[in-house]
Amino acid sequence: MTQTIAFIGLGNMGGGMAANLLKNGYAVRAFDLSEDALAKAEAHGATRAASAADAATGADAVVTMLPAGKHVESVYAGEVYGAANPGALFLDCSTIDVATARRVIEAATDRGFDMVDAPVSGGIAAANGGTLTFMVGGTDTAFEKAKPILSAMGKAVIHAGGAGNGQAAKICNNMLLGATMVATCESFAMAKKLGLDPQTFYDISSVSSGQSWSMTSYCPVPGVGPQSPSDNGYQGGFAVGLMLKDLKLATEAAALVGASVPMGNAAESLYQLLANQGEAGRDFSLMIEMLEGK
Ligand code: NAD
Repeated sequence: MTQTIAFIGLGNMGGGMAANLLKNGYAVRAFDLSEDALAKAEAHGATRAASAADAATGADAVVTMLPAGKHVESVYAGEVYGAANPGALFLDCSTIDVATARRVIEAATDRGFDMVDAPVSGGIAAANGGTLTFMVGGTDTAFEKAKPILSAMGKAVIHAGGAGNGQAAKICNNMLLGATMVATCESFAMAKKLGLDPQTFYDISSVSSGQSWSMTSYCPVPGVGPQSPSDNGYQGGFAVGLMLKDLKLATEAAALVGASVPMGNAAESLYQLLANQGEAGRDFSLMIEMLEGK
C-alpha cells in the first residue's frame, strides 16, 4: 500500500526532498507557511494540507525540514504529537541544536512515537538530485524504519548513534569544514604574498600533508582545482550565512559540554565578520577575499 508522508517545511531543501519522495512512490501531504512553497509542492504532485496538524493526520510518517530548533519544537509539540496516528514515525531533517533535538525526540518517545534526527550533508542541488547524505540519531528500531524513507531522498544514510547524534555529527563535521576552509584561504593568501603562484602552491599542497577537501574539492582560488563556486563569482554553493549558523550551533554545543574549540571559535568570528560585510548570501569560500584584504 502507498505510504503517506506529511512533509512540513518545503523551502530550498524541503521542496526537492518532497519531490524525490513523490518520484519514489510515496504520497506526500505538504504544509509550509509560504504559499509559494506550497504551490511548488502541489505542482510536483503533493497534496496541500491546511496546517502541520492537518498534514500529520493519517500519515505514516512526518518529515520536517525547518529553519531552526524553535520551529521544530513548536511544530512537533504544538501540532504533530497531538494529530499523528499511533505508530507514525517522525524524521526531523533540519539542522538544529543537539539539546533541542534530544528534547523533541524524548517527548515523542514518551508519547509512544519513534523519531530520528536526520540532518543532511549536501546543498540544494543534492536535495533536488536525491543525493543527500543523512546522519541519523535514534534507536536501532527508529533507524531501520527511517532508512527506506531517507534512501528515497539521498545516496547515503548513516546511523550515528542515539537521539541527537545526527546533529552532533553534522555540527562537528561542519566546524571542521569551516576551520579547514579558513586555513586553506589564509595559506593561499600568504603564499601569494610570498611570491608563490596559486596554481603551483595547489600542485604541491594538494599532494602534500596540507591537503583537505576545502583545497582539492572546493578550492577558494578561481581557476585552480576542479570547478567550484570560486569560478562563479562565489555564487551558489554553501552560503556564508548557513556556515555561520552551523558554527554557532557547534560553539554553543561545545560550551554546553565543556569542549575546547579554539579553531571553531575563530572560524565563527571570521564568518561573522564576513556576514557583517553583507556577504551572508555568497559562498563560504569567499573567505579568501576577506583574508586578502579585498
Ligand atoms: P528555507 O528557509 O528555504 O526553508 C524553510 C521552510 O520552512 C520555509 O519554506 C518556511 O516557510 C518553512 N517554515 C518555517 N516555519 C514553519 C512552520 N512553523 N510551519 C511550516 N513551515 C515553516 O531553508 P532551507 O535552506 O530549506 O533549510 C532548511 C534546513 O536545512 C535548515 O535547518 C538548514 O540549516 C538545513 N540545511 C540547508 C542547506 C542548504 O544548502 N540550504 C544544506 C544543509 C542543511
